[in-house]
Amino acid sequence: MDTTHPWMDEDGDTLHEECGVFGAVNASDAAALTAFGLHALQHRGQEAAGITAFDGTQFVTRRGLGHVAENFSSQESIAELPGAMAAGHVRYSTTGGSGLRNVQPLYADLASGGFAVAHNGNFSNAGTLRQELVQKGAIFQSTSDTEVIIHLVATSRYPTLRDRLVDALRLVEGAYALIVMTPAGMIACRDPLGIRPLQMGRIGNAVVFASETVAFDVVGAEFERQVEPGEMIEVDHDGKVTSYRPFGNAGSRPCIFEHVYFSRPDSVFDGRSVYAARKAIGEQLAIENPCDVDLVVPVPDSGVPAAIGYAQQSGVPFELGIIRSHYVGRTFIQPSDSARHSGVKRKHNANRSLVEGKRIVLIDDSIVRGTTSMKIVEMMRDAGATEVHFRVASPPTAHSCFYGVDTPERSKLLAARMEVEPMREFIRADSLAFVSIDGLYRAVGGAPRDAGCPQFCDACFTGDYPTSLTDLERRDRGADQLTFPTHKVA
Ligand code: SF4
Repeated sequence: MDTTHPWMDEDGDTLHEECGVFGAVNASDAAALTAFGLHALQHRGQEAAGITAFDGTQFVTRRGLGHVAENFSSQESIAELPGAMAAGHVRYSTTGGSGLRNVQPLYADLASGGFAVAHNGNFSNAGTLRQELVQKGAIFQSTSDTEVIIHLVATSRYPTLRDRLVDALRLVEGAYALIVMTPAGMIACRDPLGIRPLQMGRIGNAVVFASETVAFDVVGAEFERQVEPGEMIEVDHDGKVTSYRPFGNAGSRPCIFEHVYFSRPDSVFDGRSVYAARKAIGEQLAIENPCDVDLVVPVPDSGVPAAIGYAQQSGVPFELGIIRSHYVGRTFIQPSDSARHSGVKRKHNANRSLVEGKRIVLIDDSIVRGTTSMKIVEMMRDAGATEVHFRVASPPTAHSCFYGVDTPERSKLLAARMEVEPMREFIRADSLAFVSIDGLYRAVGGAPRDAGCPQFCDACFTGDYPTSLTDLERRDRGADQLTFPTHKVA
């Protein structure tokens, strides 16, 4: 294997959702519920976790690097977080970098009372706003763009915290699903396009919010409805719910990649089972790109539902030709290059007895840099597959995301560098094909994509970003420096 290839960098060859949020109010065991809810959202961020609780007089925050279970599994850790209201966050740290000071919820004492915020998403003008705030004298404690909200709320002239939050959010562009705690209760809100998901449920008299419905299943809550795009829901300490629409109706553009990859398959997103959507994408892929082979083999785990759909639609047997180890750490923590480059082999192993002498089609959810796909194709050939075809359950990922998903910069995306045939050569497959954007829309329950009125954010496939990208435009213009010297807390 050519380990000198510049893209031979395992870290960064998948997309990462950057965060998951959970909140509970009017719940007797709010912190414990939040810990369980965050555990169900662990796939959305594994670098750090935090919970803030409020007992009527005091906010208490506990945050830590690592998984939820490493930080919130003991009775003592939960006992430190008393009260009937709590909100939590799991984080995949890229924007703002790793380090405890960027772990959420972020908290501030404002003149009008305590204010804690857990945020999923990214602002595409966070750098610009941050620069303006710094010029006005704001002192930032973290490098997370979420702190921009706190400063905007702090400097707003409106009287109530809710109105200040609305005032602040009118200034940001991009994606946010927010859970905010104030002395008066909890506020959950979603950006006007609903790019990032946020769901609402109930358990007894408690109201709960979560990035995904799977968290409600885990804590025994009933899914009630999604927080609508542009909606702000306020819940007081008695569980009374009030809905506001301060941002008007901008039309819904939820992230279509939630269906493709990010959400757990046992979640419901945008009114549709994620598992059913992924299977339907696989069926659509088989209709558009059939393949004369002996076996359909998923790239585990995320390619499994689409591979089932592909197999059922095509009538070709589905088999687990690749077995994934669930006990492999992230490759980037390995100290040496040789150890790092062996990552795929340790993570995925060919089921040789199954694939030997067979023509196979591999099904994966996406191709990012292409290095993992190349290694998996090679692994199948080494195991004796006579033909290795590749089908992808999303269109080519040719653009970066600015809305809370960690994508490599555009120049590192394989589909930004080359057309499909050179991509095929790069991953050394016998054939390569992607589901079409219209096919993807059809599979997730939408009408064919209408360039004038798309129903989803699909910018990483189309480059059609649904908001302004102020920071990027300024950087491209060579405008004021938007990067800041950083301070590391050791
Ligand atoms: Fe989702 Fe892609 Fe839009 Fe980012 S750019 S929000 S990953 S569809």
